[in-house]
Amino acid sequence: MQWVLFGVVFCGLYGVNGNRYADDPAVQRFQEYIRINTTTGGDLTPAVEFWTRLAAEQDVPINVYEYTKGYPIIVLKWAGLDSSLNSIQLNSHVDVVPADESEGWTYPPFGGVLTENGRIYGRGTQDMKSVTIQYYEALSRIKANNITLLRDVYMTIMPDEEVGGEDGMIPFLQSKEFSALNVGLELDEGAPSPIPIIPLFYQDKVVWQIKVDCYGEAAHGSTFPATNSTATGKCRNVIDALLKFREEQYIISTRATIFDAGVYTSVNLNRLNGGTANNIIPSVVSLTFDIRLGTRVNEDAFQAQLEQWIAEAGENITLTYISKNPQSPATVVSLSNPYWRAINQAARSLKVPIIPIVPPGSTDARHVRLAGVPAFGISPMANTPLLLHAVDEYLPASTFLKGINIYEQIITKLANIPSSDTSPDPSVYIVKTAL
Ligand SMILES: [Zn+2]
Repeated sequence: MQWVLFGVVFCGLYGVNGNRYADDPAVQRFQEYIRINTTTGGDLTPAVEFWTRLAAEQDVPINVYEYTKGYPIIVLKWAGLDSSLNSIQLNSHVDVVPADESEGWTYPPFGGVLTENGRIYGRGTQDMKSVTIQYYEALSRIKANNITLLRDVYMTIMPDEEVGGEDGMIPFLQSKEFSALNVGLELDEGAPSPIPIIPLFYQDKVVWQIKVDCYGEAAHGSTFPATNSTATGKCRNVIDALLKFREEQYIISTRATIFDAGVYTSVNLNRLNGGTANNIIPSVVSLTFDIRLGTRVNEDAFQAQLEQWIAEAGENITLTYISKNPQSPATVVSLSNPYWRAINQAARSLKVPIIPIVPPGSTDARHVRLAGVPAFGISPMANTPLLLHAVDEYLPASTFLKGINIYEQIITKLANIPSSDTSPDPSVYIVKTAL
């Protein structure tokens, strides 16, 4: 609610002339990147060519790895003074969710149009091509100032975040190429905020999707079996149990702050299937639930609870896990974590409030933390309406350019953390919060 209200207030403030930004090379590179259609599953060759050219322009090495054919993982290395230290990984994804002009876009979704009032329109302007270009511009600027950072910095660009990272981040984390990067901290995507803060994700809520099949005797519609022996009667019992739990969690969510979606478990009944004819009692009815576990939920206890509800709902009911992600640990957000301290210092020098939060959804960073590497999700888009995956996704050019300054500070602080300040084992900056 608060977010909506602030969004309305701040949306009206962009009255700047777009032409002022038209000659800015960073804006032009951003527009060019938006114009490459990188919808998940499509041909990413033009994007690889784009990054190969940009790497050459800055004279930095680029490697492209493919663990699944057609899913390139792009890595640019910005060498520091001491490559023996843990490096900083700046991660982003090249893929975008589908967009079609017929959905009602004011400007073509792959047009990269800069409007008179200074907005850049297109799929990926928020999620998350802006961030990739901002990393690049910030690092280029540091290099142009003849500054060599202490630690190596890697830009990694993933091909399939929008569909779960099965051909991108997941195999990459298991590869020898990833081990060789010796990553101490990963930065990943965050989200825009309609209020004047930049949220920093330090943990993700994980997804469990379950399918419940309730079986009963098929019979003529004129017969009248006991309610609890029918497929629908059994499903009603399952729904009652899960929606009662949902109601309890909903009440907790209404009391939660916008900074911690980790305190509640969301449950949504998203599909109901069954029945063959209007006059036949069905032999099977299926329910599909999407569940996002609260970050303190013990997985074994929750699984036992689910199985108990199913058992109590009746006989001949099966439970299938469509997905059952393990709980993802949290990156430490106290001053004992030197990486958080560095970001905190950058935030203070920039006078930008960077606020640690647990978002309701998840990103590639959950895989990174599970692999033992601390990760923060941050996209520097304060005072910006949330348009991820939306029609007319846009980013004000001023916000885009401000983000470059923010990354310049954050990257400089992170990559210059003295070796004595960090543990060589980055997993010490990760904690399990599930009970
Ligand atoms: Zn994204």
